[in-house]
Amino acid sequence: MAIKGTDIVKKLPEGGKKNCKECGLPTCFAFAMKLASGGIVLEKCPYIDPAVKLELEDALAPPIKPVTVGTGSNAVLAGDEQVLYRHEKTFIHQPAIAFLISDDEPAAAVEEKITRLKELQFAWVGKTLKADMLALRCSSGDPARYGELVTKVCGAVDCPLMLISENTDALLAAHATCADKKPLLYPVTADNIDRFIPVLKSRPSPVALKAATIDALVPLANRLKEAGIEDIFLAPDSADLNSAIRDETLIRRAALKQSFRPLGYPTVAFPCFMTKDRASEMLLAAMFIIKYAGIIVISHVDEQSILPLLVQRMNIYTDPRIPMSMEEKVYPINNPDAASPVLITTNWALTYFIVASEIESSKVPSWLCVKEAGGLGVLTAWAAGKFSGDSIAPFIKKSNIEQQVNHRRLIIPGKVARIRHELTEALPDWEIIVGPREANEIPSYLPNLVKSWKG
Ligand code: SF4
Repeated sequence: MAIKGTDIVKKLPEGGKKNCKECGLPTCFAFAMKLASGGIVLEKCPYIDPAVKLELEDALAPPIKPVTVGTGSNAVLAGDEQVLYRHEKTFIHQPAIAFLISDDEPAAAVEEKITRLKELQFAWVGKTLKADMLALRCSSGDPARYGELVTKVCGAVDCPLMLISENTDALLAAHATCADKKPLLYPVTADNIDRFIPVLKSRPSPVALKAATIDALVPLANRLKEAGIEDIFLAPDSADLNSAIRDETLIRRAALKQSFRPLGYPTVAFPCFMTKDRASEMLLAAMFIIKYAGIIVISHVDEQSILPLLVQRMNIYTDPRIPMSMEEKVYPINNPDAASPVLITTNWALTYFIVASEIESSKVPSWLCVKEAGGLGVLTAWAAGKFSGDSIAPFIKKSNIEQQVNHRRLIIPGKVARIRHELTEALPDWEIIVGPREANEIPSYLPNLVKSWKG
């Protein structure tokens, strides 16, 4: 549980009564309240006792530490979650999906998986859905062969990597060849942790701790923290669906509800090791998206397996407080020209994609004006005053559509036929046409309309 401002203020200089204003705020109390909400940093107060500063830093740290795997724009960030249930606020960092490649797979299979990571991308409600990482496993037991796989993958694709080997020598040797990419190393156990600590101090990389029980993960996390290493993932050795739900829930609850720091790290889940059956693996992966993995490693990488997971992940990790929306602008569909019809709708992503796909189906080249309406659908936006004649007219004027077409006919959704009159007044140069009530009527409506215009 996060520390409250009223508790922070007691720890400030002179018991919170110094009120010197050097932090830019009028009182220590104002500073404490802002600090508790994350609006200011501790360093803004120059008078905090060093020991108190350490105490406050610890109390203010996120309950689940954010940990990065990889470098650059492709890096994966996990952790920093704040709620147990999505509807309490929102889940923040969607779990990375990693494709498993083993060093005993044929070269062609390895190539295929690398290609699929690059090419399996799906356009979905304005976003591009794709997997994020490769997890490279030493199954052969041969460090040289494993090293060849790691070198080959590093040369072929720029993505975050996870290195997996029960052979610590092979794991550390592979890490030495790509430490600059900050790969995630797994497993770090009670048996090999002492070998990892000096390596991680000289060449930092995130690590995933493995133990038979949640309890046994705690001393491992503490050992690393004492050594100054905090880029940690937890990898509970869950055997089946039930134990996986139990383990993930226990870790999340301990971190968020009890502020138990040794379990305040993101987790890695391995559906790929829990079953060989494709459907079961995908069901496990789907469960881990909901409960609460930071990285999910799967072995089946075909389109039918990955697309449902990616869509589910997107749905779970969108902020339920903010509707998905499109940019306000004019979208050309089917290569329109100056004579093409002009339609208008709101910027709720679902509305846009339904209307746009029906226009595409009609095969009529068209301009679709998408008006910013707070991400609301047509009727709701109208009821909220965000899709009225007064608000649409300025958008049409500034949208540049008048320079792109040689006519002045605007088709509005049939559900808001009532705005026709006010829109005619607001846009006197335009003929306002009431279109279909439902988007699925567009494919028959548009061709007939264009035909009637041509006489
Ligand atoms: S700088 Fe520190 S002591 Fe001064 S008002 Fe701000 S919090 Fe209080």
